[in-house]
Amino acid sequence: MHLAVIGLGLIGGSTCAAIRRVHPDWKITGYARSIATREAALARGLIDHAAESPEGIGAADLVLIAVPMGQFQSVFAAVARGRSENTVVTDAGSTKGSVVRDVEAVLGSIPSWFVPGHPIAGSERSGLEATNPLLYVDHQVILTPLKTTSPDALAQVTAFWRAQGARVSEMAPDRHDEVLALTSHLPHVLAFTLVHALSDDDEHLDIFRYAAGGFRDFTRIAGSDPVMWRDIALANQAAVLVGIDRFADRLVHLRTMIAQADQDGLIRSFERARAARELFKALSEQGAQHVTETHPSVFQVRAGGPLTGCIRVPGDKSISHRAVMLGALADGVTNITGFLEGEDAIATVQAFREMGVEIEGPTDGKVRVHGSGVDGLKAPQASLYVGNSGTTMRLLTGILAGQSFNATLEGDSSLSRRPMQRVADPLAQLGAQVRTSATGTPPVQITGGQSLRGCHVDLTVASAQVKSAVLLAGLYASGTTSVTEPAPTRDHTERMLNGFGVPVRREGSTAFIEGGQRLTATAIDVPADISSAAFFLVAASIVPGSDLTLEHVGLNPTRTGVLEILRLMGADITVLNPREVGGEPVGDLRVRASALQGIEIPAALVPLAIDEFPVLFVAAACATGVTRVEGAEELRVKESDRIQSMVDGLSALGVVIQGTPDGAIIEGQGAQTQFQSADVQAHEDHRIAMALTVAGLRAPKGVVVHDCANVATSFPNFVGLARQVGFPLDLLG
Ligand code: NAD
Repeated sequence: MHLAVIGLGLIGGSTCAAIRRVHPDWKITGYARSIATREAALARGLIDHAAESPEGIGAADLVLIAVPMGQFQSVFAAVARGRSENTVVTDAGSTKGSVVRDVEAVLGSIPSWFVPGHPIAGSERSGLEATNPLLYVDHQVILTPLKTTSPDALAQVTAFWRAQGARVSEMAPDRHDEVLALTSHLPHVLAFTLVHALSDDDEHLDIFRYAAGGFRDFTRIAGSDPVMWRDIALANQAAVLVGIDRFADRLVHLRTMIAQADQDGLIRSFERARAARELFKALSEQGAQHVTETHPSVFQVRAGGPLTGCIRVPGDKSISHRAVMLGALADGVTNITGFLEGEDAIATVQAFREMGVEIEGPTDGKVRVHGSGVDGLKAPQASLYVGNSGTTMRLLTGILAGQSFNATLEGDSSLSRRPMQRVADPLAQLGAQVRTSATGTPPVQITGGQSLRGCHVDLTVASAQVKSAVLLAGLYASGTTSVTEPAPTRDHTERMLNGFGVPVRREGSTAFIEGGQRLTATAIDVPADISSAAFFLVAASIVPGSDLTLEHVGLNPTRTGVLEILRLMGADITVLNPREVGGEPVGDLRVRASALQGIEIPAALVPLAIDEFPVLFVAAACATGVTRVEGAEELRVKESDRIQSMVDGLSALGVVIQGTPDGAIIEGQGAQTQFQSADVQAHEDHRIAMALTVAGLRAPKGVVVHDCANVATSFPNFVGLARQVGFPLDLLG
């Protein structure tokens, strides 16, 4: 392998040093503008050969451009002239939109051999002297491939950074620039500006002499290279200006509060910031940032042998949340296994930690909650920040309504637009004091110390979260609280309360709970999510000879529509070891290949299987006869328009499928179906990606599915489990 590095400063030099350690056999050619730098790099053994110009990279297999942003365009033009046919080129520039524009300016379009990238690692020092062979270990490198980027080039650059110890992610260039503008560029600009503003003072030397550690920490990054930061601020001008404007608005607001001695406003503002910081810290400590880490985005799958074995798919999110909440309110220690370690569930963990509950983990899906008892929560020191988790915010509102202390719940900008009055109104009927913003959105302020009275609540919206909030508040109310829902919703809270020893009685559409009860800790093995299991249920049904077992799947009747539909189609699925865990029905599902029949999907089952339709469309395409789905218009407003995405994908495979406004008509091709080979798009929708991957199991010449990176957020080990049971699945990028 022949690597060429252009720019031998901190970034380029560190790459040479890192590659030397892991690939001593690679040949490294280097070029920097100054002869002295090239000679120093040769003398230190960082490069084998110094090129005379950027064109002089000769036959290098891979070129890294690590020069200041303002130099990128001219260097890239020279590299483009000098490269040989198979040379792959990447860069390390801190902004990506400008790099893409520079490349377009040179070549008119983005070539398949160029992979833009940005290592999120650095130091205030620059130049060859700052070189550090471990600079990238455990740091993120963000690659921003474009539609034209070749999967092979992307794979090569990904492997190159991983070899240096980095974690590689992928993002669109614009998104990268927006994110970095806020998390890196804005803080640098602010640090420079703060030091500048203070040093305008004639007395500045004196000021700095008295400055303490906080000042040093805050201004550390103002010691960075001014030329580099000038280039970055200008290269990412638009996004940096948006960040500065947002910050300026906040600063003006803060100024007003200080001028008016608005004590409450200041506390709210500082508490909100402190809480957000605590959650970010918890997320990074728990490794939940893996969701932003990169994952393969192009799957290739083809028909192969039968699917066999025994696997367990990830845990259910709704149940993960509730296990922590009820564990926190219980007497004793609750051991949770199979916990889904996503950001939302970690927000719940963090919120209870802020209220004094000791919680260990999550580690490998294990969480240990030392319950504080139903009356043992402590007032949080600040407002509780729950990120993007609507479940945490709504259920917690119910719990907080019954506490002796005041609390405020806040969320990120998207959660801050979602309706909360629908929780506040029913809770008010119990005597709770819950305030939302004027438009009924967060922050949610709960005034403690109210004596709640049990009563009957008729809900106007069918929402499991609102129902749960009322039942949880009912724990703290005198007498009986009952809640009637207009349509059936998931009943995980009722079942889990039963599991913790608090009976919830049900009559028709009404649930009843008695106040003043205590919860007893229990062990909860979170059931595997049936929505994730569905991909394997269909896969094993359509691949001849398959015999697969899915362990410990949650079989809550509000979630099992997919099982009923598949059985109506003739699928061979048996439930083994039916049992109860924390009040939830669970079983192992054994699925064997079978000849499926097309059906009219019963309207009553549609809402109970709404998330599973993409893969049910695949089952329909392999069935004999026509399958009709109606009343599923919600599919059009999911992560993608799921009806259109599946119509496009399956049509490309040769399936006769017609989308309708609220469903689809699919002409199944029977048990001998063979799909044609095609390249299909998942439109960044994880369920479409997995459904089309399952369809590929009936394509002898293979199917390539693009845009699959999001699969890792909902189903982190999909690829591993799929391969384990026998999917002939390759990752192309
Ligand atoms: P640096 O100043 O340490 O090194 C830059 C190198 O580029 C020097 O060797 C210089 O001689 C060479 N150079 C300058 N102009 C050139 C030209 N026209 N032709 C060839 N070589 C030229 O800078 P750095 O910190 O290594 O940053 C390099 C790139 O990486 C920048 O685009 C920067 O935005 C990006 N980056 C920097 C950091 C960081 O923290 N330093 C982090 C991530 C990305």
